[in-house]
Amino acid sequence: MAQVLVVEDDAAIRTSLTRALRDLGHGVASVASGMPALSQAMEQRPDVVLLDLGLPDVDGSDVLSMLRAVSEIPVIVATARDEETEMVRLLDLGADDYIVKPFTAAQVNARIRAVLRRSGRTDEDPVITVGGLRIDTRSYEVTLEDEPVELARKEFELLLALARRAGEVVTKRDLLAEVWQLAWGGSDRTVDVHLSWLRRKLGESAAQPRYLHSVRGVGVRLAPPP
Ligand code: CA
Repeated sequence: MAQVLVVEDDAAIRTSLTRALRDLGHGVASVASGMPALSQAMEQRPDVVLLDLGLPDVDGSDVLSMLRAVSEIPVIVATARDEETEMVRLLDLGADDYIVKPFTAAQVNARIRAVLRRSGRTDEDPVITVGGLRIDTRSYEVTLEDEPVELARKEFELLLALARRAGEVVTKRDLLAEVWQLAWGGSDRTVDVHLSWLRRKLGESAAQPRYLHSVRGVGVRLAPPP
């Protein structure tokens, strides 16, 4: 998938994140402070840098500025503060995206893929097809048997999260993390409501599913009709 440089001084987070991202198929290098992060980023040219802001030697936002001065490597900033002014500041400094702590590996993975897609560094096919369903991840266009389907943003993201794992049962917890960025908390009801809107737009129902199959107590599976 991608070469990721994880910059995180908390050893427990660094270790578990490195392991989880490797399990997802990424190549991962990690460092615990800012100056090694800069030299590693310049030497190894990772596809994406996941940068913690609270580092022991240099503030993460300074690392970001220094990195931006010399390179265009996509940077996802991990911050503990969920504040709009903080987000705007980070994006102004050149961050490509941000993620609020605490987060899950599934969320980080979704951000990595989104950043790589935007920077054109991914080898993922921009068009995903499942049976007669066609999802264009660049233009956000969806067609079903060549007929356009108008989806709201979250409906699109929900469909995309399911389509990327077509044939697998995806848990509502994973969907809350990936689509709504709710690593903890968040209600299954949120998924259920969007799922029912999505079903209606795809011309099906829970009682008569074609593409969207609820697996009681587990989650949802997207699969082509037989
Ligand atoms: Ca830290």
